[in-house]
Amino acid sequence: MMLIPTHHFRDIERKPEYLQPEKCIPPPHSRPAGTMWFIRDGCGIACAIVTWFLVLYAEFVVLFVMLIPSRDYVYSVINGLVFNLLAFLALASHCRAMLTDPGAVPKGNATKEFIESLQLKPGQVVYKCPKCCSIKPDRAHHCSVCKRCIRKMDHHCPWVNNCVGENNQKYFVLFTMYIALISLHALIMVGFHFLHCFEEDWTKCSSFSPPTTVILLILLCFEGLLFLIFTSVMFGTQVHSICTDETGIERLQRKNQRRQRRGSWKSVKETFGGAFSLNWFNPFSGPSHPKPLSDRDWVRQVSSVSDTENTETTTEEPSEERKDLDSAEVVDE
Ligand SMILES: [Zn+2]
Ligand SMILES: [Zn+2]
Repeated sequence: MMLIPTHHFRDIERKPEYLQPEKCIPPPHSRPAGTMWFIRDGCGIACAIVTWFLVLYAEFVVLFVMLIPSRDYVYSVINGLVFNLLAFLALASHCRAMLTDPGAVPKGNATKEFIESLQLKPGQVVYKCPKCCSIKPDRAHHCSVCKRCIRKMDHHCPWVNNCVGENNQKYFVLFTMYIALISLHALIMVGFHFLHCFEEDWTKCSSFSPPTTVILLILLCFEGLLFLIFTSVMFGTQVHSICTDETGIERLQRKNQRRQRRGSWKSVKETFGGAFSLNWFNPFSGPSHPKPLSDRDWVRQVSSVSDTENTETTTEEPSEERKDLDSAEVVDE
C-alpha cells in the first residue's frame, strides 16, 4: 500500500461523519441580520484612519495654503469646487468600500442537512471551508482577516479595512480612481503655486511664513506623488481584473484556466451595476448584488471522481490555495 503524507488526507473528505454538526460548529458572534458590516481589525482600522487623515491634510493645504490666500478668485473657486467634490467622492467611496459586505458566504451552512438537500449527483462536489464552516461556492475564498469566505474575493485591503469582493469592488475601484485624481489635481496646483510665488513676493502668496509654506507644500507633493503612483497602479490592476473576469487570487494561482470567462463588457457591467451611465462613477449607487445563490451555485462539477483525487491529493507542497482549502465532499459513482 502506498503511503501518502497525512496532509493530503486533510484535503478531501469522504466520510459523511465529517459533516456531523458536532464536528462543524459555526464560529460564535454571527452577525445578526440588518447590522452594519465592519471588520474589527486593529491594523485595518489604523490604516483607514491614516487614509482619512492624509486626505484631510491635502484638503487643509489646498484650501488654507494655496486657494484661500490667492487673489485670483475665479481660479480659487473653480479649483476649490473641483478638488472638494473629488475629495468628497473619494471619502464616500472609501466608506462604501469599508462598510459594504463584500459578498460573505453564510457562516456555518455546511451542515449535513444542507448538503443532503443539495442532492449531489455522481461527479458533483461541494467544497467546505473548515475555518468558517461554510460551503464555498465557486470562486469564493476564505479571508483570515474577515474570518469569512468571500465570493469572488480579489484581496483583503487594509486601507479600506475590508475584503474587495463581488459586492464592493465598484466602490474600491472608485476609491482608487478618485484618490488618483485628487493627487494629480493637488500636484498640478502645487506646481502652479510654486511658479506663481517665485514670480511674486513669497510673503504675499500664503498666509503662513515662507518656510512653513514650503514645508507644507513639499509634504503635499510627496504625498500626492506617492498616492498617485500607488492608486493608479491599483486602479489599472482592478480594471484589468474586471475586464479579464479574473480576480487577484485567481491570477496568482492561475487555477481557473479551464473556467469559462464572461466577456469583458459583461463583467464590467456586472461590477458597476448595469449599462453605462453616470451612476458608474457614483459611490452612492450600488450594483444589484448580492444576487441570491441558487442550489446550483454551491455544487461544483468534476469530470470524474478519480480526476478529483488527482487534483486534490497529488500536490506535493500545499500551495496557498491548498492551505486555504476546504474539504470536498464527493459522491462516488
Ligand atoms: Zn471560510
Ligand atoms: Zn478580508
